[in-house]
Amino acid sequence: MQPALPKEAEVVVIGAGVLGCSSAFHLANSGCKSVVLLDRGPIANGTTPFAAGQTGHLPTDTSMLQFVTYCIDFLENFKQHTGIAIDYRQSGSVRITLSDASPTIRNFFQWK
Ligand SMILES: Cc1cc2nc3c(=O)[nH]c(=O)nc-3n(C[C@H](O)[C@H](O)[C@H](O)COP(=O)(O)OP(=O)(O)OC[C@H]3O[C@@H](n4cnc5c(N)ncnc54)[C@H](O)[C@@H]3O)c2cc1C
Repeated sequence: MQPALPKEAEVVVIGAGVLGCSSAFHLANSGCKSVVLLDRGPIANGTTPFAAGQTGHLPTDTSMLQFVTYCIDFLENFKQHTGIAIDYRQSGSVRITLSDASPTIRNFFQWK
């Protein structure tokens, strides 16, 4: 049986994929008193369950670098933040370019 929805909330997040779940978690964690997370189906029924779980450092600017660094730190300490243990591993990846002019690859090495 579905739980009754509250009549009002401070924030309503629509879509319970990784972005919606993370947004709802961070809002509640930073003091938002009532957060409702809605989805048209079960939690994580969109693209999220298909992700390979890679968390690469491929920032395009300083704010993205800070965001990615925060996300990786959060995942490394997921149990501390949520009480739930996950099997998070950074296995690395190989990126191949056919041209040394690829802006994504050049950008990546500039940040390194
Ligand atoms: C094969 C594959 C591998 C990938 N590997 C990686 C990876 O290694 N690393 C990485 O960072 N990313 C990876 N990605 C990308 C990653 O999966 C997505 O960027 C991420 O899951 C998007 O999350 P989301 O929350 O935005 O969307 P979704 O997970 O798609 O969630 C959207 C949710 O919104 C709900 N919704 C939509 N419309 C409505 C509506 N009108 N009303 C109510 N609910 C609604 C849906 O039901 C769904 O639950 C991969 C993607 C694929 C396909």
